[in-house]
Amino acid sequence: MLRTTDLNILCPVCEKRDGCLVADDGSAAICSRKSEGSVKKVGKGGFHGGYLHILGDFKPQKYKTPKKPDVNWNKWTVKFAKQLAENRKEFGKLCQSINLNPISALRFYIGWHKGWLTIPVYGMTRKISGIQRRQGNTKRYMKHSGMGVFVPSAFFQNPSDTLAVTEGWTDTVTALEYGYNAIGKVNAFVGNEEVIMFARTHPSVKRVIIFADNNVDGVGLAGAEETAELLNEKGFTTKVVLTVEKDLRRCKQVGMTIHEVIGK
Ligand SMILES: [Zn+2]
Repeated sequence: MLRTTDLNILCPVCEKRDGCLVADDGSAAICSRKSEGSVKKVGKGGFHGGYLHILGDFKPQKYKTPKKPDVNWNKWTVKFAKQLAENRKEFGKLCQSINLNPISALRFYIGWHKGWLTIPVYGMTRKISGIQRRQGNTKRYMKHSGMGVFVPSAFFQNPSDTLAVTEGWTDTVTALEYGYNAIGKVNAFVGNEEVIMFARTHPSVKRVIIFADNNVDGVGLAGAEETAELLNEKGFTTKVVLTVEKDLRRCKQVGMTIHEVIGK
């Protein structure tokens, strides 16, 4: 599912510009506003959930060209990584402002471009399928970006059978800080397929711990439970942890140990 704002189209259901998601092939949408005519409720509204609508032959303007332009994401990632080296000071400031360990952050092949931190997103082919940009807590995607997961270099380097799944990049970085092998969904409901693919193709993964953001509308938890359900179907042992603070990063920030976070 892609955000209408990233695609620069109106939601085919409510015709508003933001807050809704559309399937890559245009066959379905999750509208955050309109329940009428939907087949089921997904999540709890807001940007990550809403009402699932089957669209039949809907083809938004942008999808008239069936394929996205072939962007060489790898090339951009390399270029941005070089630019990061030239903007170390600014990068340091950003890490400080969002309370992130730069060493762990650097495991994500991040870069810098025009005042934004850039973070590659990996798709089903295990290749970079898009780039998220970040300025403080503001997130955007580069044009034509695909969705997927945040994956650290040396994925699953710790000798353990557990994979941590988080929502968003900063929490993925924090999970590494807590000593986990980690992978991050781009948001509560996007990245499940990729998580499962990465988990299944790594022989050591047996258990998956999924950290759910503790937001008021319950979107984080709903998204985490969806991930857990899909992993259970594939035979993984799963555990969903709803963070006491708003997210994992905040838990780390207030000094919680991992045992306090997972509740044992
Ligand atoms: Zn809508």
